[in-house]
Amino acid sequence: MAHSEPDEVDLLVVGGGKAGKSLAMDRAKAGWSVAMVERDKIGGTCINVACIPTKSLVESARTLAAVRQADVMGVEFEGAPAVSLDGLRRHKESVVGGMVDAHETMFTDSPMDFIMGTARFVAPRTVAITTNDGATRLVRGRDVVINTGTTPAVPDLPGIADSDVWTSETILRLDRIPETLLILGGGYIGCEFASMFALFGTKVVLVQSSDQILPREDSDIAGHVAEILTGQGVDVRVGARATSVQREPNRGPVTLTLDDGSAITGDELLVATGRAPVTSELGLDVAGVRLTGRGFVEVDDHLRTSAEHVWAAGDVAGSPQFTHASWNDFRILRGNLTGRDVSTAGRLVPYTVFVTPELARIGMTEAQARDAGHQVEVATIAVSAIPRAKTLHEKTGTWKAVVDTETDRILGAALLGHNGGEVISAVQMAMIGDLPYQSVRDAVLTHPTMGEGLNLLFDSLGDKPHTPTHP
Ligand SMILES: Cc1cc2nc3c(=O)[nH]c(=O)nc-3n(C[C@H](O)[C@H](O)[C@H](O)COP(=O)(O)OP(=O)(O)OC[C@H]3O[C@@H](n4cnc5c(N)ncnc54)[C@H](O)[C@@H]3O)c2cc1C
Repeated sequence: MAHSEPDEVDLLVVGGGKAGKSLAMDRAKAGWSVAMVERDKIGGTCINVACIPTKSLVESARTLAAVRQADVMGVEFEGAPAVSLDGLRRHKESVVGGMVDAHETMFTDSPMDFIMGTARFVAPRTVAITTNDGATRLVRGRDVVINTGTTPAVPDLPGIADSDVWTSETILRLDRIPETLLILGGGYIGCEFASMFALFGTKVVLVQSSDQILPREDSDIAGHVAEILTGQGVDVRVGARATSVQREPNRGPVTLTLDDGSAITGDELLVATGRAPVTSELGLDVAGVRLTGRGFVEVDDHLRTSAEHVWAAGDVAGSPQFTHASWNDFRILRGNLTGRDVSTAGRLVPYTVFVTPELARIGMTEAQARDAGHQVEVATIAVSAIPRAKTLHEKTGTWKAVVDTETDRILGAALLGHNGGEVISAVQMAMIGDLPYQSVRDAVLTHPTMGEGLNLLFDSLGDKPHTPTHP
């Protein structure tokens, strides 16, 4: 059992995700006494089993695709390019391992008390920690931050528990590159893996229950992504609900039965049907921390929970499920813990879906803007119209921006195409600066770059002069 008297600290961080580790390091440097408890992933989900390994492998897939079309660029060589499983693992593990090692050094060199173990609340602001070397500790924070993240949610389908299916975590072990991969779930994660494995040469079948993949996106944009995936050889099945899973013995083929009675069989099945909050084992009832109906920690727009001096951040707090949102949560917490008054209200959270080429998004979709009552104009261009895209031979994709016709402000954008994730930051700056779209249209942008495409995008709305002031 735990010691009877807990160690007292200024800040206790439960779960070392992006927000938690950043806050722990920052406050320890500022002279606070800080304890951070992490169960197993030094540096959190992003660097171990999410953004960093997946984007390392996406880059391998893109390299393969680029080499395959080298002849178009006048580069010739003998033999066909191919992926090597060992090489992929080495690449991924060197990036991930380097970042994990750097984090471990940072944490152990920092004045904070970095505890590898599993925490559970046993009283308000107090956790019992079972350390990974078998000891038990009791720690109480003057302030406590819960940053325990999410894990892959596997639906309760008949047969699934006995079918040894892959999740976004286990697929990254890279046990094999299957000849056929079934993917259940056409959201961001499912689409990223579909594009990556299709470029590796796997025959992918992507199964999505709603009538479009990427259900949160405008249907035209989701349709373009579906066309791109189809062009890469992915069999995209929308409006298809899985009813059961069955795997042959000795890790034989796996079969997914659909609600129309049809069945599809592949070598492996990746389940990418969303993420579940890590809250059930935390003893949050004892801590006085309320959950939402979906099991996330309930927070207000200052990231305060229902318990005094207990805060939550990142995925577990229902923040948009992106590392940069969690990092922004850190800034909000730091502000609120140091006497400022900072909130999540109205923040712009862009994101990039790393299919190839990528889809970058910010603000409202066209459908959301219309639903919110805006009068809108929609700017669009084909990526093939951008001079830089021609030089790169990266002409696939489409860009779209939604503009309020009364105020000329940009309400949102979807940049589907090469380097869309880089260019979206320029759109974001215009939105943060409350610039009329004409400022972007008329800006002198460097040539030939993908960013220059923003001139062309907003030119598609005509030559309406600047609105000098915001109404
Ligand atoms: C396949 C995939 C790809 C992704 N790609 C991107 C991307 O390209 N860009 C992007 O922005 N986002 C991406 N995301 C989302 C991103 O990874 C998450 O939004 C982000 O990691 C969430 O961080 P967090 O701060 O909520 O906590 P996390 O990083 O999830 O950290 C939570 C930590 O808490 C620990 N923990 C849990 N319970 C306990 C306990 N009881 N005691 C001690 N420790 C505990 C866990 O071990 C974990 O390390 C991706 C996600 C996935 C799954």
